[in-house]
Amino acid sequence: MNKLIQVTRSFLPEFSEYVKEIEELWDSHHITNMGIKHRQFQGALIDFLKIPYLTLFTNGHMALESAIEALELTGEVITSPFTFASTTHAIIRKGLVPVFCDIEPNNFTIDVKQIEGLITEKTSAIIPIHVYGHVCDIEAIEKIAKKYNLKVIYDAAHCFGITVNDKSIASFGDISVFSFHATKIFHTIEGGAATYSNMNLVDKFDKIKNFGISNPESVDYIGGNSKMNEFVAAMGLCNLRHFNDCVEKRKNIVKRYRENLTGIKGIVLPLIQECVKSNYAYFPVLFDDYKWTRDEVFQRLANKAINARKYFYPLISDYACYKDKYDSNKTPIAKHIANNILTLPIYEDLTMEDVDFICSNIIN
Ligand SMILES: *Cc1c(COP(=O)(O)O)cnc(C)c1O
Repeated sequence: MNKLIQVTRSFLPEFSEYVKEIEELWDSHHITNMGIKHRQFQGALIDFLKIPYLTLFTNGHMALESAIEALELTGEVITSPFTFASTTHAIIRKGLVPVFCDIEPNNFTIDVKQIEGLITEKTSAIIPIHVYGHVCDIEAIEKIAKKYNLKVIYDAAHCFGITVNDKSIASFGDISVFSFHATKIFHTIEGGAATYSNMNLVDKFDKIKNFGISNPESVDYIGGNSKMNEFVAAMGLCNLRHFNDCVEKRKNIVKRYRENLTGIKGIVLPLIQECVKSNYAYFPVLFDDYKWTRDEVFQRLANKAINARKYFYPLISDYACYKDKYDSNKTPIAKHIANNILTLPIYEDLTMEDVDFICSNIIN
């Protein structure tokens, strides 16, 4: 029997570190509703991400739905189908119509050359995804948004800690949205955040996430409930201390993968974007005319107790809940990538031997 290698493994701080972090909650009994841990964590993230404003949420998806609500988007939103269910679901759950744009074949982000052709008088926003931490063509998107007076929300769920030409990834668009889910590189078990530079959104987000309550005797907005609780914020404070270490460890794992897999016909490794300081959150490999198909590689690995992940497959427009409304053949590149991509295991304590073992099962 081989030992089981999962595609990812949630980082956890030392038990004692977490216990110390939550100790004062036993004194205060203030365990949710924006207490001390919530305030500390919010402040720590604003410093770390180098942005003026940040609102914490119960998860990344609610941050995304709240961002759509805060910007009062209407009608149609241009986005790409090569993403996690959350991006498209959020658009539709907020009463809008997603219009799917195809993606770039080399970095899998929205193909900016095709955006203008999809804009109608109903278009209110673009919601691009920095897939796997590959950064979208931010400049081109900003230009288009200005020209047509559109809002931009970046789904930056994969991008915690990334910088572009030394600028924080959290600083682009009207709003960027992050996920702190247990499977993400930086997590709070469940959690998420929206980052932005428009001060007017602070109050709006606070109402959206807490029933529209502005003070104990006044409710002036029909908000929901998506507050981050104190225990979750405490986990975030702990994990943030270890984030840079985690990235360093992953960097070495990625280096080893590249040493093993570079120069093999039919294996396309993740693009390196020169201006981007990566967080090494994922290691997506494209099997393009390789001797085995993606599904065969997936199965070969599974036979050795290695769990790779077909991430993202199926394409969103092929989901049972969408396939009657959308034709995935209209975004042929996204479809091709979804059919041939495999993310390989990566987490902090994956050993070099594990990486070599995974690669040998891909190659031999
Ligand atoms: C994880 C993820 C989300 C949703 O975040 P949750 O915290 O799980 O709600 C949204 N978009 C993308 C691209 C994701 O990977």
